[in-house]
Amino acid sequence: MSFNPADSIQDLKKFGEFGGVNPSISDSSTYTFLSAKTMSDTFEGNADGCYLYSRHSTPSNLNLAEALAAMEGTESANVTASGMGAITPVLLQLCSANDNIVSSRTIYGGTYAFLKNFTPKLGIETTFVDITKLDVVEAAITKNTKVLYCESVSNPLLEVADIKGLSALAKKHNFKLVVDNTFSPLSISPAKLGADIVIHSLTKFINGSSDTVGGVVCGTQEFINDLRNVNDGACMLLGSTLDSLRASFILKNMRTLHIRMKQHSKNALFLAKKFQQDGVKTVYPGLESHSSHQLFKEMMNTEYGFGGMLTIDVGSLEKANALMELMQKKNLGYLAVSLGFYKTLFSAPGSSTSSEIPENEQKEMGLSDGLIRFSVGLDNNIERTYQMMKFCMQEVCV
Ligand code: PLP
Repeated sequence: MSFNPADSIQDLKKFGEFGGVNPSISDSSTYTFLSAKTMSDTFEGNADGCYLYSRHSTPSNLNLAEALAAMEGTESANVTASGMGAITPVLLQLCSANDNIVSSRTIYGGTYAFLKNFTPKLGIETTFVDITKLDVVEAAITKNTKVLYCESVSNPLLEVADIKGLSALAKKHNFKLVVDNTFSPLSISPAKLGADIVIHSLTKFINGSSDTVGGVVCGTQEFINDLRNVNDGACMLLGSTLDSLRASFILKNMRTLHIRMKQHSKNALFLAKKFQQDGVKTVYPGLESHSSHQLFKEMMNTEYGFGGMLTIDVGSLEKANALMELMQKKNLGYLAVSLGFYKTLFSAPGSSTSSEIPENEQKEMGLSDGLIRFSVGLDNNIERTYQMMKFCMQEVCV
């Protein structure tokens, strides 16, 4: 039977300590031992089922990690305090001084800033490439390349990575393909397409209620053990541990992810089609006009759709700002960064989530001033929302 990420989550069965239908929340930072020997064994990582200290692991964090590994079809996972708290340790675990990373040039601004401004201080250099061109990616690889990094669907330009093609390059040149799947949970299963490590910002669709930050790294048991190693594990030593209470909330929210993603995708496809028909420059992987529409179709788990993210270009930052302010005034959504909320969220990435990318580079990659990124909400009546958005566009754009 083929892999279905939502079924894999559904199939997990975990009771609470007292038979509760939800696993009990671990509410301790440290754990007692009956014998000193077991304590030292646990510290060395070889006393399964025992807990030592909550930065290492907690029952609640392990429960959430198990569900996320099931969703991505990987052996294991490690949850973190934020998406950046997952991305940075993975890259630092895989790379040392004089190593090279080949990365997509359209990635989340924080990740871009980390690669551009922070890792060079440690002697790690990054070559930024157009990830949609496999020949360009291969030409950038050097003998020092340790990681190929991309987002399945990129923030904010919604470029789609050919994960199978990139995985073949990573295998050929013997390094790791790391994929941030934050924009396309359930729709795309990168590990099943050959990615070695899959990352999410749980802050977004997976938690879905815009009330917490969180992240996850999904990969082999060996890699997750490496990240947690007390002597040289980047997750362990950098300390970006998720709080147990938050982990338990995210686990509960995850159970409705499949229903939410279908609605986000349905609404986004509806709006994208309408905006495009109205002559608005619209980018959405579900539109046939998207340059990677076919590729997305080949990679996707069809029933979850093309995701909740779309962009429009209204020509200038002034118009973009005026439109977003008017849409917020009409209660069509919020002028806010982030994604995956029940309300539509919109922002102009050039001056917000991608502002770390210098202006000339934004232009080069096609990130224009008038670009608005929409995280389309769960609206029950998307036709009504569209009519009101159309009115706002006419007000602002004529
Ligand atoms: N990856 C992507 C694609 C994102 O959009 C973001 C945040 O916007 C992150 C990673 C970082 O996640 P967090 O804010 O949870 O650290």
